[in-house]
Amino acid sequence: MKSAQTALARLDHRYVWHPFTQMRDWLRREPIVIVDGRGAVLRDAAGREYLDANSSIWTNLHGHAHPKINAALGRQLKKIAHSSALGLASEPASRLAQKLIQSAARCRAPSVPPRRVPPSLVRVFFSDDGSTAMEVALKLAFQFALRSGRSRQPAFLCLDSAYHGDTVGAVSLGHIDLFHRSYAGLLFKTGKAMSPYCYRCPFNRAKPERADAREYRQCHWECVGKVEQAFAARKKRGAPYTAFVFEPLVQGAAGMIPQPPGWLGRVAEIARGHGAQLIADEVMTAFGRATVTAPSLLACHQENVHPDFAALAKGLTGGYLPLAATLTTREVFAAFLGRYDEFKTFFHGHSFTGNQLGAAAALASLEILESPASIAARQLLAKTMREELETLWPLPRVGDIRQVGLVAGVELVKNWKTREPFPLREQAGLRVCAAMARRGVLTRPVGNVIVLMPPYCTTRIQAHKMIRALRESIINTLD
Ligand SMILES: *Cc1c(COP(=O)(O)O)cnc(C)c1O
Repeated sequence: MKSAQTALARLDHRYVWHPFTQMRDWLRREPIVIVDGRGAVLRDAAGREYLDANSSIWTNLHGHAHPKINAALGRQLKKIAHSSALGLASEPASRLAQKLIQSAARCRAPSVPPRRVPPSLVRVFFSDDGSTAMEVALKLAFQFALRSGRSRQPAFLCLDSAYHGDTVGAVSLGHIDLFHRSYAGLLFKTGKAMSPYCYRCPFNRAKPERADAREYRQCHWECVGKVEQAFAARKKRGAPYTAFVFEPLVQGAAGMIPQPPGWLGRVAEIARGHGAQLIADEVMTAFGRATVTAPSLLACHQENVHPDFAALAKGLTGGYLPLAATLTTREVFAAFLGRYDEFKTFFHGHSFTGNQLGAAAALASLEILESPASIAARQLLAKTMREELETLWPLPRVGDIRQVGLVAGVELVKNWKTREPFPLREQAGLRVCAAMARRGVLTRPVGNVIVLMPPYCTTRIQAHKMIRALRESIINTLD
């Protein structure tokens, strides 16, 4: 076992280039080589077991090797793994498209009737991952703005610290400085509005407390005013923003930054008021990840926000295979219809568009997701996480603990009383995660924010173990 681990680690070191990784550091340590997984547990080539505390980078929903998804894949494999969506239809892709549209349409009855009839999502464009799902949304929105006569210069307003993927279009929409700077000359310009980061908000007048900053903040919703100002300024210049791009409820790669309840509903209303379309990046938040109570697929429905585009990826196949989908409206679809020689065709597609194996996994995953047992398990896990996370407040290196559904971020700071951050070069987040790995819990930080995003099958005992490992690792590493 040990020798298998060493041999495989050597192969990796020799040939593989890892994503978002300083390879000089990587090559100094023997990597963990994962060979199998069951439920929330991953096992490495040396036979050691770990809890998958970030659901394999936010993708897994129901645990690894789920019997229902495995069976669905087995059935599909007996038929065919892939055929092209260029010129051909397939059963799994057609059924999945129907299922996504039906599930996205099921949302909580709004407490206030909407002022205008919200658009409904009626069409699905398949692609491969979160980045491509966002590229599709952005290209469609761009063309739609031109064709509908809304603007000759379509422009996007995005949020500060937003992350929408790594392809050039998706990076242009994103506003994480570190990623943006490297490709500045390659990107197109997009607007950036303040995002609501209560814990570090310059308008929050409250002193730090031992609670989620959203709960004790003192402000006048200046962040909402900033979005209004961004729209108004651009309109004044005669080139209004034609689309507003956002991650609903919580910005993931920004550092698990949660939006205070009501924020999204308000800014969506402002965007609509300025005639902009709404692009919801639900790559991380959909499929019950950020909303354990709403019966809908989409997290934005919790704020009664109905987007013109919704991008789905990560959890779409239950975290099994790369498959993504961009959902959009009848109005957008209609803008691409015409005589052949009008060339209104959407000139975009990927070799694996609508992959049959991926679609079969996604159908099985959605069926599990909608089962009463899964809903009950998610609600219980969210409650357990809430209770366990409470035990971290006594630690002076914990500045903020924020949970949205089954997503949690723990922000590590030098001094909780002043919110003084650790300098990035100290790698506080990475060091704590390395200590957690030694305690059998795997996750990856976003800067100095430790991410906990367990698979939905995680038991009470496993959740307890994850947070105990985090607590001990913070104490042993940072004090
Ligand atoms: C992960 C992520 C993406 C990019 O998805 P990939 O599958 O990595 O290309 C886009 N948006 C959000 C919100 C994400 O979390």
